[in-house]
Amino acid sequence: MKKTIFLWLALLPCMAWAQFDQYFTESSLRVDYCLTGNSTVTSFSLKELIHEPYWSGSKTNLIDTLEFGNYIVKVFEAGTDKLLFSKGYQNLYGEWQTTDEAKQVTKTFEESVIVPFPKAKIDIALFRKTWEGELVEGMRLTVNPDDYFIRNYDNLNLPVYAAWIGNRDITKAVDIVILPEGYTQAEMGKFIKDCDFFVESLFGYAPYDRYRESFNVRGVMVPSEESGCTMPGDKIYKNTAMRFSFWTFDSERYCMSTDNRDIRDLAGQVPYDQIYILVNTEKYGGGGIYNFYCSSASSNNKSSDVIIHEFGHGFAGLADEYYYAGASEHMYNIALEPWEPNITSLVDFSNKWGDMIREGTPVPTPREKKYISTIGVYEGGGYEPEGMYSPYMDCLMNTFKGHEFCPVCQRAIERMILYYSK
Ligand SMILES: [Zn+2]
Repeated sequence: MKKTIFLWLALLPCMAWAQFDQYFTESSLRVDYCLTGNSTVTSFSLKELIHEPYWSGSKTNLIDTLEFGNYIVKVFEAGTDKLLFSKGYQNLYGEWQTTDEAKQVTKTFEESVIVPFPKAKIDIALFRKTWEGELVEGMRLTVNPDDYFIRNYDNLNLPVYAAWIGNRDITKAVDIVILPEGYTQAEMGKFIKDCDFFVESLFGYAPYDRYRESFNVRGVMVPSEESGCTMPGDKIYKNTAMRFSFWTFDSERYCMSTDNRDIRDLAGQVPYDQIYILVNTEKYGGGGIYNFYCSSASSNNKSSDVIIHEFGHGFAGLADEYYYAGASEHMYNIALEPWEPNITSLVDFSNKWGDMIREGTPVPTPREKKYISTIGVYEGGGYEPEGMYSPYMDCLMNTFKGHEFCPVCQRAIERMILYYSK
């Protein structure tokens, strides 16, 4: 009997491979679409389909079992409910919806999902989770791979800097593409040095230091017309490759862009799972959204910590463990368990880090000196001072004092690396 089970288990990866090859090619389908809405309503609309040259995601883990993110793309065999692929993600629109501005005006944000390019007709459905936690279908379309309106990607013939190449095939590695924002042609040498700094930073932190071989890091060398970055609060406006801007949602250090098409066109020049934008400035700031993109200033004295903190959001879906007293805008509905692996509202803690708490540690755990370096359940996290809890007194997802991730965040990162490596 044991032998039978063993054989069956051994066959599983082969079956998944067969499924990938049966349904998909080794290239990607990019779906560009728009989200339009405000704090109460959201609608999806299709913009364009693009055929991109690489599939760098896993060929084995086609169905997203982590279920991180408030958005999910699902691919079905056309006309059936046979699920072939799914992936969770977050976006800038979802964050904007929680701002006061979204109570006043309606806006449109453009974004993309990437799925493996199909061999036959597929149905693609996009879902979003509402504030109350309900999964709602926003858009569904049937894609015929022979449709001549699927635009072939533009090869921009840009030089690529291979900053770090591990020893794994792109479908078994975490492929990071670094895009330069606000570097002129004359500053491409600085961009190369900043890519090296990114790699040095990444592998300077646990658990990334143990998984060097599982990563590839490539920089696409696109120059900007002007050096630096737009800073509306200082009335500085720059003509740059991807139009990043500090003061995103009127938060000075939050540096993001809504220029989705340029970001994706540039990223698609190389195989990628994660997009990282290095912004050529000394100003402190950045941003990171799960399976969307990350950004950070290249030349601030805290850049190393910021790079890794933002990548924690973008790659591993980690939440911020910091919180504000009297926050007026709420990012989380504390009546629900958040999906992020490093915060909990204690509504459904069972799948979080309960297995890592040592016997005798009180839950919730008081923020007292004697619990420093103790995995617990500390009130305050996800910007919420009450009703949301973090696993550690301090962590790189909270402050930059200790320069390291707490054990719970380290485990979450490790799990994500392994998820991509299968
Ligand atoms: Zn942590």
